[in-house]
Amino acid sequence: MGAQQVREGFAALYGAEPEGVWSAPGRVNLIGEHTDYNDGFVMPFALPHVATAAVSRRTDGVLRLHSGDVEGGVVELRLDDLAPESDRNWTAYPAGVVWALREAGHAVTGADVHLASTVPSGAGLSSSAALEVVIALALNDLYGLGLQRWQLARLCQRAENVYVGAPTGIMDQTASACCEEGHALFLDTRDLSQQQIPFDLAAEGMRLLVVDTQVKHAHSEGEYGKRRAGCERGAALLGVDALRDIPYADLDEALARLGDDEEAVRLVRHVVTEDERVEKTVALLRSGETRAIGPVLIEGHASLRDDFRISCPELDLVVDTALASGALGARMTGGGFGGSAIVLAEAADVDTITKAVEEAFASGGHTAPRVFEAVPSAGARRVS
Ligand code: ADP
Ligand code: MG
Repeated sequence: MGAQQVREGFAALYGAEPEGVWSAPGRVNLIGEHTDYNDGFVMPFALPHVATAAVSRRTDGVLRLHSGDVEGGVVELRLDDLAPESDRNWTAYPAGVVWALREAGHAVTGADVHLASTVPSGAGLSSSAALEVVIALALNDLYGLGLQRWQLARLCQRAENVYVGAPTGIMDQTASACCEEGHALFLDTRDLSQQQIPFDLAAEGMRLLVVDTQVKHAHSEGEYGKRRAGCERGAALLGVDALRDIPYADLDEALARLGDDEEAVRLVRHVVTEDERVEKTVALLRSGETRAIGPVLIEGHASLRDDFRISCPELDLVVDTALASGALGARMTGGGFGGSAIVLAEAADVDTITKAVEEAFASGGHTAPRVFEAVPSAGARRVS
């Protein structure tokens, strides 16, 4: 869905040209899973898939929302009526952003919005953050709010946590708002400091595939909450603010202190080793040893499967099949219990791996996965 189509869609709906068109991408996380709510490190990059929104201001306290991807017409809301957890529909994401901006004291007086997205929804690729960030950036520009990218990401996270009622960390929104083409974003989720790490696989003869399993196991949200609570409990037992505060060098001692608290041991071990894997990945990419990140991704998957216990048969099947067919590395990405996996491979092996994964899914009786190449792309921007 191009910017021009979204612009035309807006004009057809609202009878006037929009003031502008913006886009914001979905993301995949290269490494650093379930670390963002532990104040740790993550390393996402932006996908070429984007949410695109045509937006105009209004002065009458009305917000009109329309998505070309959802059945139903324009939804009209009054800004004064916006209240946390009052909306269970898709409109909660953009309305939540408007609410968060106004809550933070920014004078937003209304908007007309028409949007469309190429980010697969519910696949762990952050279609929700793309939706939030595109609205936040549009309103920031139109209303001259002067907020920086990281501040927009914070407000979007607040929209999702408080208004939508979904407990998520800061990674998704920051990735969508701050990523740069050809780079992965090394983000410290404690202080939001960021570094753009060059990540141009094509130039080195490699590819990164995203395999969307198209499954979403029903209990996934409850399990996310349980892991999050379990990590907080682990931090409390160890007397730290967040698991980020346990240095990798002190891991064995920390685990010994947890004794036979088997659950805490597993969760703490995942988070502390995962932070270490992010730092290792950054170091390898910086020194040009890109192929050497493969084993780090594989270790990351094992940790998510065995210690954090959030993988599922479909994700394991992608990883095992890809590795058996010559992939350099593979792991589940995102929240777990479905969604997507990533596969790092030599360009020459991509077709073989893709075919092997598709065949494994067919013979296992699973829905066909959606496989596409992920090229590190630009973050949110004004497109017209
Ligand atoms: P993810 O962010 O991993 O894709 P979420 O459950 O966090 O999954 O967000 C998906 C939700 O975002 C959808 O259920 C829908 O409410 C909203 N959404 C995503 N894309 C669109 C779209 N193009 N139009 C309307 N709503 C969308
Ligand atoms: Mg989401």
